[in-house]
Amino acid sequence: MSGHDPGRPTRAEINLDNLCHNLESVKSFIKKPVAIMAVVKADGYGHGAAACALRLETAGIDWFGVALPEEGAELRRAGITRPILCLGGFWEGQEKFILENDLTPVIFQAEKAKLLDRAALELKRRARAHIKIDTGMGRVGVRYDDIENFAGQIKRLENIDFEGIMTHFAAADCFEEQKFTHLQIERFKEAFAFFESEGFHFLYKDLANSPASLAYPEAHANLIRLGGILYGLGSDVLPVWVDKPPLKPVMALYSEVSLLKWIRKGETLGYSRTFRAPRDSLIASVPIGYEDGYRRAFSNRGRVIVKGKFAPVVGRISMDWTLVDVTDIAGVKTGDKVILMGSEDDLRITAEELAEWAGTISYEITCGINKRVRRVYVESK
Ligand SMILES: *Cc1c(COP(=O)(O)O)cnc(C)c1O
Repeated sequence: MSGHDPGRPTRAEINLDNLCHNLESVKSFIKKPVAIMAVVKADGYGHGAAACALRLETAGIDWFGVALPEEGAELRRAGITRPILCLGGFWEGQEKFILENDLTPVIFQAEKAKLLDRAALELKRRARAHIKIDTGMGRVGVRYDDIENFAGQIKRLENIDFEGIMTHFAAADCFEEQKFTHLQIERFKEAFAFFESEGFHFLYKDLANSPASLAYPEAHANLIRLGGILYGLGSDVLPVWVDKPPLKPVMALYSEVSLLKWIRKGETLGYSRTFRAPRDSLIASVPIGYEDGYRRAFSNRGRVIVKGKFAPVVGRISMDWTLVDVTDIAGVKTGDKVILMGSEDDLRITAEELAEWAGTISYEITCGINKRVRRVYVESK
């Protein structure tokens, strides 16, 4: 076995050069100057938020987006200095935490704004916040037709700068929903105009996620929020009817053949005996399972790359192990590299393909690669 770190060889390789490639690729595709927020919630969609954010900050990114204040604090501890928007707001009791970590929450409840205002007064700091409008997602945000009451309640809070206003699209990736997306844009414009007429002045105005950034230039405003596309993900969630910038996958998933054994024709493999060998077969045990995020749904469905050839996953994937039929791989031996996601020569296995096996989207695949899988960062520098 070759000289690698001790311990289980299963690892997610994160290519930070590809991350920057994707950022530059989207920028040149969009052409006009617009500020960019890198969305690094959920540990950077599983890629490692701190490492990705540090590299993107060096590359000149304007903003970071996270879901929870805790995720924002993690970035601050890692040394991130750019502004961080907490896309999910905050929970009662986190007001001081927000201020102490220099985070910017979105606000969609007047009571939360009041809590933040009071905490800012006590700490003698100014708070910053962005107003989130629900224009049709139906999720968090102030309903577009309920903004008057909301504006009236937050208008007089003196310790908060409401420096941004945003909304989120429900279906910017759906061809059949273009009318609805335009309706969301209209509702947002009206909400923006209303707040301005009430005396608010916004530095940041943002609507677009990855799909909208490609398909709706009119939704770029002055800031776009990019998640999946930066990680090279989303050919399954990007609009199919427009051109797309060239993207490179950032995550690859590797392991090794830990054990090889022959089973006889007619013998079965794994839990519930779902695979019966149609011939004498050489079976590799690979140390990755559903606990790692290599989904049980891939059982008898997925495939991997070993020595430049595809090899099928056989039997049920268990918590820690996956079995692969390597009968047709000449010269296979223990310690050989197994590519679960990634490429070799002309062969490729993408997050989108894994998602298809499991009936989900690529985002859920990379987010689901568990903490137990070591992240190894590669960059040329
Ligand atoms: C997650 C998220 C994004 C990023 O979406 P992508 O499709 O990954 O680009 C943008 N905005 C909000 C509010 C989000 O929650």
